[in-house]
Amino acid sequence: MSEAIKPVLEGLFTLGAQPALIGSRCTACGTYAFPAQKGFCRNPHCEGETFESVELSRAGTVWSFTNACYQPPEPYIAADPFVPYAIAAVELAKEKMVVLGQVAEGYGVADLRAGMAMELVLETIPDAVEPEGKLTWKWKPVA
Ligand SMILES: [Zn+2]
Repeated sequence: MSEAIKPVLEGLFTLGAQPALIGSRCTACGTYAFPAQKGFCRNPHCEGETFESVELSRAGTVWSFTNACYQPPEPYIAADPFVPYAIAAVELAKEKMVVLGQVAEGYGVADLRAGMAMELVLETIPDAVEPEGKLTWKWKPVA
């Protein structure tokens, strides 16, 4: 994977062969959040306002999934013609938090089952400015 390809947004995930999403953990109650939380804790019973930056689990299991059959509106840049893709809601192994993501290229809803093991990967998606595209996170079934 080329280091020259930029991420869709800085600070969402680490780069390299073992990428991880960057989330936050409340220092008062331990609640995790992705994207990283600022300001107030998501836990309604917590008054915490300080968070530490943490690399989240790269592994998880499918909680739910669906097929995106319609081209999303701009600024999403779709392949032309539009190719439907799968979206998976994956429960992170350690944090038990569900994170949505596209499913890796080459996999569709027919390849997915609730409870199956997934891992985080980075893939390139088309971009309006960058001819090489930009990197985003996706969920890939563990072989
Ligand atoms: Zn908290």
